Amino acid sequence: MSATKTTCAYCGVGCGILATPTGERTATIAGDADHPANRGRLCSKGTHLGETIGLDGRLLHPMIGQRRASWDKALDLVAKRFRDTIAKHGPNSVAFYVSGQLLTEDYYVANKLMKGFIGSANIDTNSRLCMSSAVAGHMRAFGEDIVPASYDDLDAADLIVLVGSNTAWCHPVVYQRIMAARVARGTKLVVIDPRRTETADEADLHLAIRPGTDVALMHGLLAWCRANGAIDDAYLERHVATPDDFWNGFGEGSDLWSTARTCDVAPDDLRRFFDLFAATPRTVTMFSQGVNQSLSGTDQVNAIINLHLATGRIGKPGAAPFSITGQPNAMGGREVGGLASTLAAHMDFAPENVARVGRFWAAPNMATKPGLKALDLFRELGHGRIKALWVMATNPAVSMPDAGRVREALAACPFVVVSDVIAETDTSVHAHVRLPAAAWGEKDGTVTNSDRTISRQRAFLPLPGGAKPDWWIVKEVGRRMGWKTAFAYDRPAEIWREHCRLSGYENQGERLFALPGQAASGNAAYDAMEPFRWGGTPFADGRYPTPDGRARLVPVVQKPLAKPLADWPMTLNTGRYRDQWHTMSRTGLSPKLARHREEPAVEVHPDDATALALTDGGLARVMTPQGDSLFRVRVAATQRRGELFTPIHWTDRNATGGRTGLLPRPLADPISGQPGFKATPASIAAV
Ligand code: SF4
Repeated sequence: MSATKTTCAYCGVGCGILATPTGERTATIAGDADHPANRGRLCSKGTHLGETIGLDGRLLHPMIGQRRASWDKALDLVAKRFRDTIAKHGPNSVAFYVSGQLLTEDYYVANKLMKGFIGSANIDTNSRLCMSSAVAGHMRAFGEDIVPASYDDLDAADLIVLVGSNTAWCHPVVYQRIMAARVARGTKLVVIDPRRTETADEADLHLAIRPGTDVALMHGLLAWCRANGAIDDAYLERHVATPDDFWNGFGEGSDLWSTARTCDVAPDDLRRFFDLFAATPRTVTMFSQGVNQSLSGTDQVNAIINLHLATGRIGKPGAAPFSITGQPNAMGGREVGGLASTLAAHMDFAPENVARVGRFWAAPNMATKPGLKALDLFRELGHGRIKALWVMATNPAVSMPDAGRVREALAACPFVVVSDVIAETDTSVHAHVRLPAAAWGEKDGTVTNSDRTISRQRAFLPLPGGAKPDWWIVKEVGRRMGWKTAFAYDRPAEIWREHCRLSGYENQGERLFALPGQAASGNAAYDAMEPFRWGGTPFADGRYPTPDGRARLVPVVQKPLAKPLADWPMTLNTGRYRDQWHTMSRTGLSPKLARHREEPAVEVHPDDATALALTDGGLARVMTPQGDSLFRVRVAATQRRGELFTPIHWTDRNATGGRTGLLPRPLADPISGQPGFKATPASIAAV
């Protein structure tokens, strides 16, 4: 059988895959040497995808309560309950919570149904937990949510700075590419991360900064660049709007010694970093969840962008700030407006944008303002103000912060729909209706990876049982709610073409969405689509999509550091393991992946372990004001003193402990709404 060209199910690197079926539910998986993101490379998760395509645990038929139902009956019930709820309580009494696992076409139809026809913007996504601070930072600095970098910049850089990113584990193929650049051209690597991760092990320099001091670090670096002739005054003059008071007093408290003290790093190490950065025009600063998942995430993003704008390191090969996303299609979701705070085609809710999209969709009930972001959405669910919720392809009962309250809110909601691949998740046990969705390998559509390469994800397996693609499920509900013409899609190519037409339709960002050829392409062209990156090198001409065409330096301040609380003297950081993905519904199926880390552990510094009588391999309870959970103890000198680390993957379905989601506070960055997962006051005790 010939290989199908598709893309990986997991992370935002967006690797191309060649999948060759070898039996009814088996396939061999290889890296696609022609795909620009990975050039044939795969990491362990991608390599073992073939072990995850069986039907164990699959949801194969619509379920109403615990009873199997026909699609007609289930869809009619969903449409009726949403319609009745809206009629009684208004459009803002319903919500969708969707996922970066959805394909762009799925995202588009869900966004259109909620924002154009139901009349609310209460559609948010688990991408809110991943990169919404980067979105907000881009919009403040550039006027639009544009990632000004590509993977090719990593090949062209002389210095790569990784901030808050365990790239070796979380974006392994990008990491392999960085390592290849180091061999090929001697690219220097600096890692900024409170933990000494596998990524940091390979770096020329690792700065284990105190959590939450990223703004102070970037300010100190900017002050150093200013004092040492590394500011690009000509670029600032021509292409950047600088607030009058931006430089007033800048540098006070940001000298090398003060910065080293605030960030709790050795001044000599800091100086090495500052000197290296100041002397290296071709620098890429790549950042991920350590920056984004913070209560100051947007300011931290802008502190990084400020640095690149002020030194003119943007819009040139090998020079850019680079937000790398977690999920396979977080970027596609951004393009079609999958966040409650955006409309479509990267537009916000300015009245002219609302009117433009409303005209295009011939929408009867356009939402006119942003909807509830993830944390607010589940808080409103808990308060009883969201009365019907549809969760698509995600598991918020595990992944949201303060997940115990999320679970209570789901249990109390009058009507919960879950469309998913898996029969029973911690979220779907609260569903009144479960709808079987097509899985990776069975569905067709497009995804956009971290560097904005758009690729086709293709089916190479038949749909099992009654499973249906997400776009089909949503459009059927839209039709049954009364909007037959607007949701008359027969295949994803039609949705793709509509998305391309909308993106080019009187859009303010024509440069961004120059996809007219795609909009006109037929089904055959869609099926044959090769990966492509659109937009060239963003900002190469120094023009930004702001009213005056200039970027913005955004004044940001380092927030005062919170003092440790008496009852919660430790700080809890959370993150991923190398071989697991999110809540393990797919990676948990692979025996080979399970070998890397068989159970969830709390990592603790040896001095803390001694002081608290914790033994390596023993059990401990990690506690926060939100909840507690049991973990195996891993004593690790890679931790800073006073800090704990736990993985995010384990759930009630697969472990008795290790429930990290119960622990973080339900608090978010006030600008982006992205929850802070990286610094929760906590305590730990041996059991
Ligand atoms: Fe898949 Fe990401 Fe690994 Fe590539 S790096 S194979 S996209 S998990």
